Amino acid sequence: MIYLDNNATTAVAPEVLEEMLPFLKEQYANPSGMYTFAAEVGRKVGEARERVAALLGAHPDEIVFTSCGTESDNTALRAAVWSNPDRLGVVTTRVEHPAVKNLCEHLEHVGHPVSFLPVDGAGRLDLVQVRAAMTRSVAVSSVMWANNETGTVFPVAEIGALAHEAGVVFHTDAVQVVGKIPIDLAGLPIDMLSLSGHKLHAPKGIGALYVRKGSKFSSFLIGGHQERGRRGGTENVPAIVALGKACEIAADSIERERSRVRRLRDRLESALLERIPNARVNGDVENRLPNTTNIAFEFVEGEAILLMLNEEGICASSGSACTSGSLEPSHVLRAMGVPFTAAHGSVRFSFSAYNTDADVDRVIAVLPGIIARLREMSPFWAEQTCKMPA
Ligand SMILES: *Cc1c(COP(=O)(O)O)cnc(C)c1O
Repeated sequence: MIYLDNNATTAVAPEVLEEMLPFLKEQYANPSGMYTFAAEVGRKVGEARERVAALLGAHPDEIVFTSCGTESDNTALRAAVWSNPDRLGVVTTRVEHPAVKNLCEHLEHVGHPVSFLPVDGAGRLDLVQVRAAMTRSVAVSSVMWANNETGTVFPVAEIGALAHEAGVVFHTDAVQVVGKIPIDLAGLPIDMLSLSGHKLHAPKGIGALYVRKGSKFSSFLIGGHQERGRRGGTENVPAIVALGKACEIAADSIERERSRVRRLRDRLESALLERIPNARVNGDVENRLPNTTNIAFEFVEGEAILLMLNEEGICASSGSACTSGSLEPSHVLRAMGVPFTAAHGSVRFSFSAYNTDADVDRVIAVLPGIIARLREMSPFWAEQTCKMPA
């Protein structure tokens, strides 16, 4: 199998699994206990917190463990809204992950005015529009650091500075960035940042929220005193330990891996563009995650490409979703104004530390033939979109 869907989830690193196993077996104490057995577990949670903080350039006290990226996003936005009751507004973009997008739609539904900022054809924001949206009635702004579908990286330092000029709390969903490009929060105008373990080789079901020291905060999960009262619930110790290990590995390998993975991605991308007519890259190629390429193959159906790649043992993901009778391509590609015929044939390939040159060779060997066959089979596909069973 060739796994090129690492923006959806990643394999747990063997070193990460090793590190967490004792906490699923003999070291099962609740870290709140008043005995040595518990203190040892508590010490390991503290070490994990230090490792996460180190990867971000943060202080360990600024890290709150959560159950996932989605919980981190929900906690951040709700905390900002609840702790700034004199301001109602929310500023976000049209290309956020559903964890932010659907939450903002919910906030709008319950009475918060929300600005969903548009992007251009390359998925970029207009900083003049960003500045105009940041008014004294806005409580919080949430802009993702990098887009999960196209890999487009947003200028969060500039956006955060514009937010702060208007006294707006700035949150960023950095789930796709952590472990892929270096982060140093010490010098950045970012108040809160979300990350998720399973996007960087830790297991699913663990995330973290960075909350800058001095930020107003209000808990989303109210309960025990865990996480210094910022998130109730007995700590998911094995997963926390795993996230700490994954962050330590990322910190050690990020410089090496980002150029290795970029080279693999670039080789795949240029070979496909060279061999396949009517193909183009979606997103901002100048400011992009090193591991992601989203390519539109015009006049074919993305789902059909994925099925044929699957036959070859290749896992990738589609920019379009012809599910439940909907003909709508992804909200990200629609926000970018990607033409219908291209948005429907968009495929995302996302790499990790475990991909090799052989993976790239295999995709280059099979995909041009797949696209050619599909185009032959349905030259007028545009008129018959999504007649295939889901
Ligand atoms: C995967 C992802 C999330 C959600 O993280 P979970 O841990 O799966 O809840 C949020 N934002 C972005 C950008 C993501 O890629």
